[in-house]
Amino acid sequence: MKKLYFVVGSQDLYGEECLRQVAADAADMTAFLNEKLQDTVSVELLPTVVDSETCIQDLRKASVDEDCIGVITWMHTFSPAKMWIKGLQELRKPLLHLHTQHNEKLPYDSIDMDFMNLNQSAHGDREYGFILARLGIPHEVVSGFYQQDRVIAKIRRFAEVAGAIHYSHHLRVASFGNNMREVAVTDGDRVESQIRYGWECNYYGVGDLVEIMEKVSEAEVDAKMAEYESRYTMKTDRTDAVREQAKMEVALDRFLEKHQIGDFADTFQDLHGLKQLPGIAAQNLMAKGIGFGPEGDYKISALSAILMKMAEGRKGATGFIEDYTYDLSDGEEVELASHMLEVPPAFAAGKPEMQVHPLGIGGKEDPARLVFDGVTGDAIQVTMVDMGDRFRLICADIELVKQKEAMPKLPVARIMFRHKPNFEIGTEGWCYAGGAHHSVISTALTRADIALFAKLTGTELITIGEDTKEADLLHLGERK
Ligand code: MN
Repeated sequence: MKKLYFVVGSQDLYGEECLRQVAADAADMTAFLNEKLQDTVSVELLPTVVDSETCIQDLRKASVDEDCIGVITWMHTFSPAKMWIKGLQELRKPLLHLHTQHNEKLPYDSIDMDFMNLNQSAHGDREYGFILARLGIPHEVVSGFYQQDRVIAKIRRFAEVAGAIHYSHHLRVASFGNNMREVAVTDGDRVESQIRYGWECNYYGVGDLVEIMEKVSEAEVDAKMAEYESRYTMKTDRTDAVREQAKMEVALDRFLEKHQIGDFADTFQDLHGLKQLPGIAAQNLMAKGIGFGPEGDYKISALSAILMKMAEGRKGATGFIEDYTYDLSDGEEVELASHMLEVPPAFAAGKPEMQVHPLGIGGKEDPARLVFDGVTGDAIQVTMVDMGDRFRLICADIELVKQKEAMPKLPVARIMFRHKPNFEIGTEGWCYAGGAHHSVISTALTRADIALFAKLTGTELITIGEDTKEADLLHLGERK
């Protein structure tokens, strides 16, 4: 299990007894945090920081420990912040400043100067907050008694977001083919992606995949078909078309495993040697947490993998989608979102159906795909665009709704949603912000999760939701 290190600040000015108490209280709090967070992350206490050297040792340890996804810091007493400068300069993990106390209430009858000197986070945490601000280190501050549910919830969120950032820093992205010809928003600076998020984005020829496909055995295809039959309703007699996708998925799986790849992008303009565009093959992989981006969109592929990781321990659906078309009935506007084929089965309201239909573009054989109506409920829509000198995240609150009427001739999976605060502001805001037509939708994550991810990775964030006013639209697209 991944872990958070807990680093508590003090100094030697108050004597040995005080430091013994600090260590005991910190151990007590660590045990409590472990009990509450055991399904998400483990918490490990490091030696109390009493001088610059202990701080360097603690934060250096956190920085190089592969199992450590982040650090929680708290000042039990006053801990002069110059002692923290060199350690913090070496810290390479997400940081949470927990502004709390070991005691919830003040012992009014017995409080004396010894108690005040021992329990002075109101004092020490401000000194510490200053040095974080002065050093410009991205971090999350959580205030409140550490046993309160809302404090624990915020620490859990930090662990989930930090875990996603850890995953991001180990993510390898495979691009089969390049970005779709002429398309702007799906493109981006892959060097900057690696510098900021750790993504190792590399190109592979689709022939590399075809080569593996040729070696897939009939028995492996049979096994994959049995998996499809158990998970999905077969609404086609064109078994050969489905078997072709099964073969493609086995090969993709092998390829991803061989190169330790967490997500991939492909393009219908580069399918040399493939008989079909990956449909069910991509969908079934997304169902297993593999990120996917069509038309060479490596950013949405990586973002979908990271947000699926962030949402792993929660209920709900998270995955890639494309904005497609609207019902513009006045006051009842809804958007129909889908893709040519590759809609994640996570969004299925019922058991997906396997169907085979022609594909209008790409010039290949009819691909098998899963078709379903989407889940409903509150959700967020998130995308990432490259503004030239920085990446920008855009996060909109939306509501997934039941499709107004059946669409029996639409041969792809689909979801339908309502914009917030209303159609005009929601969609005008997205356009002003330069939001892409590819995004990740999640009913498991919230704006607060994306805001924390943006903060900890130093990414510009634009949000749209119930609190967005018409006047805000004037500023959404501004260059910063
Ligand atoms: Mn697309």
